[in-house]
Amino acid sequence: MQQLSDAIISIHGLGPKAQNKLNTIGIYNLEHLLFHLPLRYQNKTYFTPLNKARLGDEVLVQLVIQRVESLLGKRRQLLCYLADENNQSLLLRFFHSNHYQKQQFVRNDIVQCFGEIKIGKEGLEMHHPEYRLISKGQSTLLEKTLSPIYPLTGNISQIQMQKWVNIAIDILQKSPLEDSFTSLSNDNMPSLKQALKTLHHPQKDEDLHSIMQFKHIAQQRLIVEELCAQQLSLLRLKKQRKRKTTNIFTIKNTLSKQLLASLGFELTSAQQRSIFQINKDLSSNQPMLRLLQGDVGSGKTIVAVFACLQAIENGFQSAIMAPTEILASQHMQSFANYLNPLGIVITLLTGSQNTREREQHLEKIQSGQAQVVIGTQALFQGVVNFNKLGLVIIDEQHKFGVRQRLSLVQKAHNTPHQLVMTATPIPRSLTMSAYADLDLSTIDELPPNRIPVTTIALNNKRKNEVIEKIKQVCSENNQVYWVCTLIEESETLRAESATNTYHYLMQNLPYQHVVMIHGKMHKDEKNTIMQQFSCGKIDVLVTTTVIEVGVNVPNASLMVIENSERLGLAQLHQLRGRVGRGNNKSICILMYQAPLSTNAMQRLDILRKTNDGFIIANKDLELRGPGEILGTQQTGVANMKVADITRDAYLLKQARSYCDKFINKDEKQQQALIQRWITQEKSQYAST
Ligand code: ADP
Ligand code: MG
Repeated sequence: MQQLSDAIISIHGLGPKAQNKLNTIGIYNLEHLLFHLPLRYQNKTYFTPLNKARLGDEVLVQLVIQRVESLLGKRRQLLCYLADENNQSLLLRFFHSNHYQKQQFVRNDIVQCFGEIKIGKEGLEMHHPEYRLISKGQSTLLEKTLSPIYPLTGNISQIQMQKWVNIAIDILQKSPLEDSFTSLSNDNMPSLKQALKTLHHPQKDEDLHSIMQFKHIAQQRLIVEELCAQQLSLLRLKKQRKRKTTNIFTIKNTLSKQLLASLGFELTSAQQRSIFQINKDLSSNQPMLRLLQGDVGSGKTIVAVFACLQAIENGFQSAIMAPTEILASQHMQSFANYLNPLGIVITLLTGSQNTREREQHLEKIQSGQAQVVIGTQALFQGVVNFNKLGLVIIDEQHKFGVRQRLSLVQKAHNTPHQLVMTATPIPRSLTMSAYADLDLSTIDELPPNRIPVTTIALNNKRKNEVIEKIKQVCSENNQVYWVCTLIEESETLRAESATNTYHYLMQNLPYQHVVMIHGKMHKDEKNTIMQQFSCGKIDVLVTTTVIEVGVNVPNASLMVIENSERLGLAQLHQLRGRVGRGNNKSICILMYQAPLSTNAMQRLDILRKTNDGFIIANKDLELRGPGEILGTQQTGVANMKVADITRDAYLLKQARSYCDKFINKDEKQQQALIQRWITQEKSQYAST
């Protein structure tokens, strides 16, 4: 007898071609077919009287044949007129047919048809229905349960898919199915077997509406299991990592106290909490792997500085990696402000340094004289040798590419503690699922006395008004960013377009110092410009989106974003975060090219209504979906079979609590669960 664990190729009539096709959608064995759930259902459980049939409905009817005609012309059609006992008629129309088919339809015979009700010149019609000639002894179309319609792949037909899934269901009836969640039934949920049966063949009185809304209890049963499997696979990674041991930092806090006393402000309680959590990790012998998230301007940098102090006091070096040179030099400045007074040596390492400079820095890093090393990716090239690297901080900024960067730890003799900072908040549902393997610190409040940025949407045509606003802002000694969001493919073309805007602004702002910065410029030139802007020597900075991340110039109080409809929510929020950092009331003008798409309109609307990065992140997830936000790095969450983390976020907590119990269970059971749900691990399983 066949078993659920058998490969699908064991199904009679399923060949290697179909096997490959099914493999691509994660179906390797019969059990996987059970988890290939219907997209929708057809209702063939009763006959619909013609006078009750509504346009557009898919219905099953049983009628008597009146007459048959062939319609000659360019396209030869077969017309078959049916009627009920009240003489109401239905016309079956076949746009292609054969002679044999025409002969099948015999006057006064009973026929059953299933199809969509359409309307034609002569009344109700059905085109190419599924039909059975009952008088000729063909079996009925009437079903006891609803009929599933499955998602398809390649050129596999619906009928084939139904047949194969049915084979799996037949075997399911007769054999046990590993169900690790029997305890879920205590929460009134069905068993796994029952849930699958219900979803493939719902009873006629089943609540279809809730199935269509993905809120049916049978679906919830599966969703919780899938979310749990997904989290389990990440938590297992985390557990593995935590088995490594590393340097314990003794928390002395001598330097921290000095720094704290010299700060011109008090830490927010969210910052204090994050520092506390980090210190706890650092003083353990398990390597820290923590994600520090907080809204733009919530003050993540200072938290990172405090972490460095712990490393320094324990004789370890810290490395801080920024995504761009501009940001690396800016971090250099802020770190130097905080740490130089404490006598700490900081080094900057970037790609644009000349050989001599570079060698000096490399020497300091190798000798251990440099206690804090700040840089771009250049930090982790082969030539860089750390003396005693104990802490790695990655200012990941706009990308959530958390894990790739973890390979950097190889620079240390012993796994270093790691802190990853994100530029904008990550929706809670994502941190609970896609980032379940990281510990999380959240800065969920802004420093006090921040004045929220006012956001205005304005048609591109109203540039004149914007020019007036710029003049006013500059007359108050504040500064302006003008962001060109250009979609040109190459940075060269982008630079060219930005140049046009730059000339326009030069002409219209003769008394202001307007300077342009873009990605094509030499790094030194960019740095010089940023420094000049930073110290107020430039009034208006025309920029491409290179400025998007992290830049901190508190005196800038106006941000103009041209063609803002082209950017995503998170990016716009990040850009807007460049203003509102000082004591002045700031404005962000989102200029747009009309007409706006509905989606773009929604985005601009959300930005006008809120400054809260957490709300924006959730909206972004809703509008774009997890796949777009996570990119290719976390296909696990984006490609789930039943669950959808946006839609099913309300079940994440429940899944997590099962996962926490599960992780201490039998290894075999854990693996079985993961293999059932996670495609990547399934293919590994198939090859073994
Ligand atoms: P982000 O989280 O966007 O990286 P930063 O770390 O650049 O934010 O901090 C933004 C600004 O807020 C900096 O000028 C910083 O000095 C200031 N700042 C940080 N924490 C506080 C605080 N607790 N009170 C007042 N200002 C603060
Ligand atoms: Mg920052």
